[in-house]
Amino acid sequence: MEFTQTAEIGRTIEAELSDNERSAPELRVPFFRPDIGDDEVMEVMATLRSGWLTTGPKVKAFEQSFARAVRGKFAVAVNSCTAALHLAVEAIGLKEGDAVLIPTMTFAATAEIVLYKKAVPVLVDCDPVTGNMDLADAERKIEKIRQRTLPYLRGRELKPVGVIPVHVGGLMMDIGAIKAFASKHNLWVIEDAAHAFPSAWRPNSESRWEMCGENTASVTCFSFYANKTITTGEGGMAVTNSEALANKIRLMSLHGLSHDAWGRYTSEGSWDYKIVQPGYKYNLTDVAAAIGCQQLERAEQMREKREAVAEYYYSSMANIREISLPPNDPDRLHSWHLFPIRLKLDELSIDRNEFIEELKRNRVGFSVHWRPLHLHPLYAERFGWIDAHFPAASKLWTEIISLPLYSGMTREEMAHVVQTVKKICAAYSKVQISVAA
Ligand SMILES: *Cc1c(COP(=O)(O)O)cnc(C)c1O
Repeated sequence: MEFTQTAEIGRTIEAELSDNERSAPELRVPFFRPDIGDDEVMEVMATLRSGWLTTGPKVKAFEQSFARAVRGKFAVAVNSCTAALHLAVEAIGLKEGDAVLIPTMTFAATAEIVLYKKAVPVLVDCDPVTGNMDLADAERKIEKIRQRTLPYLRGRELKPVGVIPVHVGGLMMDIGAIKAFASKHNLWVIEDAAHAFPSAWRPNSESRWEMCGENTASVTCFSFYANKTITTGEGGMAVTNSEALANKIRLMSLHGLSHDAWGRYTSEGSWDYKIVQPGYKYNLTDVAAAIGCQQLERAEQMREKREAVAEYYYSSMANIREISLPPNDPDRLHSWHLFPIRLKLDELSIDRNEFIEELKRNRVGFSVHWRPLHLHPLYAERFGWIDAHFPAASKLWTEIISLPLYSGMTREEMAHVVQTVKKICAAYSKVQISVAA
């Protein structure tokens, strides 16, 4: 996959906006709108007419193209990223009594798949700027596992076996640092890359770009949920360079059968199969893969459009003193799945939830990524986590709002988002209040 830098596009768009486009009073901007073109529609129709609806030639083609796009060796398509993560921890041998380090700043799926295996997700605080997992805190949590001083497990023995980093919003973590941390503690790494297609990183400007999924973890799991950077409606992909892991994941994705349905029903495969494990029903359909193949064709083009929206947000909101804009890094290629702004609560007379009410009143879609796991009853009550264990995430959660960011955004929509954020900040700025008084 070829990347191009489009740093100038956002500024150009702002310059081109006429006054007319800046004020569209009744405009409603959804938080997300999938970018589905005629090509996706045509390919789905062709697939429906082909008579092969479930896992078959389209899934094979999607797997091969996806592996090529991230420069990974093996790709196994499944029906969600959650399924990919579940099969990844199973294939790698996670079992009861094991502990896995999981960022508290993540979606439900990252930790629940550890619970599926009766293992323990040990939550880790986040970096206060990127929201990604803080490896210094991961060190502290490992130490607590060793000393048996985790809140809910006093005296109980746990074996730390793995870590599941999440690249929040599509801004990749430092893979070198994760690998060093993992090898120091003898942990496997499975990536939750639900936001990170296409994303890449490099240690410094002299080194080559490495795609997320190229060689960044033992298994890298992607999501094609409706609002992700490319979609199949529901869908996911496990990418690995290990043939053994890929085979285990594939086997377990379809009932633990020794041959998949594609193999069974074509001349390539035998009519016979053998059940070798109690597997799952996680296979992707050809109808979904048909959408995926077309989305993949346009993935970099859609990323560039999102990058242009992000650049427009950067240039047009740089001077708002009541918020800070998300970090970027010259040694990352950002997928721009999310654009989370951060409220400076001491500059504002309203809190995050009231800010959200104002966005709603102004018909601007939003989301919050996320209420950290330790603030959900499952993790607070079962494991005894409290705010004080995660100071950075507990604070960040009260300040963050993700703004609309997608390839199909119109210039009017982008302008409406920015004008609304400016309006709310001006109306509730503490500075203005003190000047007025
Ligand atoms: C969306 C998401 C998932 C789950 O993806 P599905 O394909 O819906 O299972 C997992 N992790 C993160 C960080 C996500 O944002």
